[in-house]
Amino acid sequence: MIEPIQAPLTKSPILKAMAGHCPRCGQGRLFRGFLKVADRCNTCDLDFSHHDAADGPAVFVTFVVGTIAAVGAVWLDFAQRPPAWVHFVIWPIVVIGLSLVLLRPFKGFFVGAQYKYRSIDREKHERH
Ligand SMILES: [Zn+2]
Repeated sequence: MIEPIQAPLTKSPILKAMAGHCPRCGQGRLFRGFLKVADRCNTCDLDFSHHDAADGPAVFVTFVVGTIAAVGAVWLDFAQRPPAWVHFVIWPIVVIGLSLVLLRPFKGFFVGAQYKYRSIDREKHERH
């Protein structure tokens, strides 16, 4: 009988980073503050200083949250016909709340993807 090939049980570096952990070891903390990436992993000493997400996470969060808010506002307006003040109360809370919830995982995604797909160590050695 042929045994099915089992995938390794280790999580992807991207998933580890999205959860706020080091993309290499999955144990250390990726963030020093809410959105500030730590200088090094406190467990395996991986250098995070070369993993720069820049404005990428904010751009994607803007696309996602903007789409949700725009579609939601149009749907609410057509479905319920609420007074304008309802929109002024609901949508700032939704936009700010979703942005705060999504920014950190998106930033982790970028750092994890850079760790997985960019050979930063090789780039460092090629520059010197
Ligand atoms: Zn680590």
